[in-house]
Amino acid sequence: MRLLEERIIKDGLVLSDEVLKVDSFLNHQIDVRLLAEMAKEWKRRFSSDQVNKILTIEASGIAIACIAAEIFDCPLVFAKKALTRNIAGAFFQTSVTSFTHETVYEVIVSKRFLGPDDRVLIIDDFLANGAALTGLVKLVKQAGATLVGCGIAIEKSFQKGGDRLRKEGIRIESLARIRSMNQDSGIEFEH
Ligand code: 5GP
Repeated sequence: MRLLEERIIKDGLVLSDEVLKVDSFLNHQIDVRLLAEMAKEWKRRFSSDQVNKILTIEASGIAIACIAAEIFDCPLVFAKKALTRNIAGAFFQTSVTSFTHETVYEVIVSKRFLGPDDRVLIIDDFLANGAALTGLVKLVKQAGATLVGCGIAIEKSFQKGGDRLRKEGIRIESLARIRSMNQDSGIEFEH
């Protein structure tokens, strides 16, 4: 998506060959109009898929997913980070390894908010090694819901998550795909 690529070039900060900072429009200060355009693009791509639930993960996915939920006219559910293992059975639960913090954490979704009638579009800000998406996909499976696909803002396609998940048959629609990035040579996109 050209608009997003242009914004990444203009305002993205390449912190290393692996980490891109987009906190001036996506992760800290948020450009809501840009998010609305992104949501419309996902809506165009998933128009015939009868999405009736958006699922994301706390915290950075929530803003993007919120606007997407408005455009898809359906509820947004976000997987919450949990401090302890859930034993009461009221939640679907799985563990995720954080890309940014290199820690493992538990995520939960209440069984009240995800179930067999749901046709789920997963939304997230970044796709790197795919741990966050894998965790969300597991929650969808536990719920017996149908996974329609995943809408990602920025995929770093030089990292292995996208390839692996597509090989598993999961549809992933990334609005910007970064082939490589470097502080000196800049960002190269793949189309
Ligand atoms: P993955 O689980 O695919 O390895 O990483 C995805 C998660 O890590 C995203 O939810 C995002 O919050 C974070 N992440 C991964 N790569 C980057 C990056 O380059 N920049 C930022 N800001 N977050 C990232």
